[in-house]
Amino acid sequence: MLEEKDAKTATRTVRKAVNEPVQEVTADICVVGAGMAGISAALEAARLGRKVVLIDGLPMLGGQVVNSIIGTFCGLFSDGPHFYQFTHGIADDILRDLAATGGLYYPEGRRDHKVPLYDETALSRWIEKAVQAAGITVILGGILRGVTSKERRITTLEIATRYGDVRIAANGFVDATGDAALTWQTGLPCRRLTGDVYGSHTAILDGIDVNNHPTRDELTARQREKAKEYGLVRTDGIVFVFPARGTSVLNMTHVQTPLEPLAASAKALEGKDQIDLVVDFLRKEFPLAYGKARIRAYGLPGVRQTRWIVGRQQLTTADVFAGTHFSDAIGRTAWPIELHDKSEGYIWQPFAENHVHYIPLGALTPPDIDNLVAAGRCIDADVDALSSVRVHGPCIATGMAAAHALDLAGTGSVHAIDIAVLQERLKDNLVRTD
Ligand SMILES: Cc1cc2nc3c(=O)[nH]c(=O)nc-3n(C[C@H](O)[C@H](O)[C@H](O)COP(=O)(O)OP(=O)(O)OC[C@H]3O[C@@H](n4cnc5c(N)ncnc54)[C@H](O)[C@@H]3O)c2cc1C
Repeated sequence: MLEEKDAKTATRTVRKAVNEPVQEVTADICVVGAGMAGISAALEAARLGRKVVLIDGLPMLGGQVVNSIIGTFCGLFSDGPHFYQFTHGIADDILRDLAATGGLYYPEGRRDHKVPLYDETALSRWIEKAVQAAGITVILGGILRGVTSKERRITTLEIATRYGDVRIAANGFVDATGDAALTWQTGLPCRRLTGDVYGSHTAILDGIDVNNHPTRDELTARQREKAKEYGLVRTDGIVFVFPARGTSVLNMTHVQTPLEPLAASAKALEGKDQIDLVVDFLRKEFPLAYGKARIRAYGLPGVRQTRWIVGRQQLTTADVFAGTHFSDAIGRTAWPIELHDKSEGYIWQPFAENHVHYIPLGALTPPDIDNLVAAGRCIDADVDALSSVRVHGPCIATGMAAAHALDLAGTGSVHAIDIAVLQERLKDNLVRTD
């Protein structure tokens, strides 16, 4: 036992104060949600010289693109044969920096789409370093639980963390929560599904033999044939093989994603059960490729669509097919309609070569509030249309647009900004074809 004089630590007794003061933070732009859309919005706002605070309910940055081990950047490039890049901004930096360190892989033989695979650990560190270097104030593990608004403006957010509460005041707010949590908490109308759009629980495996990996068609055919035998819910899963890492990301489950806390928790566990069945199937049916495979990590539940905003305008399936060039267009993509509305499979509706569809600012802006812009998978689109604009390319584009719209609005309204000026700032994402 240490002598008292040798003791290196001291202790004191503490008790929670009755009226413990809430920590206050002020910013120009507050971004809620640090997934692909929120990261794009926060970094872009910081590059514009704005003081930015970025909040996420998880204790880490990156949202689904990192923590749900999604695997690829979809919707970032046009369809072949030319394959130009639709969205720039932080996408340029990510593609450059990950490629330089072996964290990016462009699969060969993808006939229709240039869809790079990424190393989620490398991307995670890229995001963390970029956010730190940009001087962004970060609140991790911060759950939005209250919003104060006055005369068409959000004034403050109440954030609960395990270390105490924080109140944030800002001029402008970005709802990049995926579930429109900020819009919802503000009391504004939101849309909900009446049917199902399934999420997927993913996992990354290592120890696979990439040289003996089945083709996608072989894998799908076997999954269709054997799904019942192995208890698989889904019959048409996708696997992304990253040869240099000797890994594959499994996107082979279908799990409901309710917004009710107990049900959501139960489904998160069910998703892992489904993965275990999939791995059993792969090991037994493809022993050369998967006989020695190990699960390196399970992703957090992957959520496709839950609740989203009612915008000034809704992007419709007809707009997507027609490639409507909106007067307030802020981004573009050509990602197919990819609808996961059945437990056993999904609908894949690609477009003709050279197809482009656009996203209007109206789909990011709830009409009854002046300083709120949505980005990412909770913008306003009908179910089929959203499935073609919620992938990472357009998430970066809508995040970037949200930052610029709020920067231009300042203490005014995002509904009154000069659209020509906004589009001039976003022109790389609207007209560049190199
Ligand atoms: C299984 C699956 C596979 C997919 N595959 C691909 C693919 O291969 N390529 C591709 O490009 N896209 C893919 N997608 C789509 C894409 O992953 C998502 O649409 C995209 O990641 C959404 O990004 P986001 O920034 O809008 O939202 P998210 O990544 O969901 O980020 C939202 C963040 O907000 C936080 N948040 C939510 N509510 C609160 C709150 N109340 N308080 C504080 N924080 C909160 C969350 O913690 C989260 O980090 C896939 C999706 C799924 C589910």
